[in-house]
Amino acid sequence: MPIVICQYHLDSLSDIQKIELSRQFNESGKNAMPHQIAVRLGITYSEALTILVKLEANRLCEMKLLIYHQCEPDIPISTMPYGQGFPQLPWLCPNCEEEVEDYKELSFDFMAIAFQPIQFT
Ligand SMILES: [Zn+2]
Repeated sequence: MPIVICQYHLDSLSDIQKIELSRQFNESGKNAMPHQIAVRLGITYSEALTILVKLEANRLCEMKLLIYHQCEPDIPISTMPYGQGFPQLPWLCPNCEEEVEDYKELSFDFMAIAFQPIQFT
């Protein structure tokens, strides 16, 4: 699988941070969540999310919205493609089969999945 060289809009990152980011995406199918990138690079969650959104916009990865329900707060119950907004209410939780009528019962996160290995330079 060829490696994609990524130089898009990452001027704010140091060389060491780019190496860390390359390690995170060194195989196709490798995934990353914003908090993982934030810890690895020493940046904020929103900065990490911005990087992932840029990768998605440049078609280097697929982004998914992870949906969590309060019945199992640490495990994503469902996913949606990024960019399609949030699940419509009422939303039937496939885990506890409860009908959710309030977004307060849900929480969300993001996951980026690399289409192929990415090297950041
Ligand atoms: Zn549930």
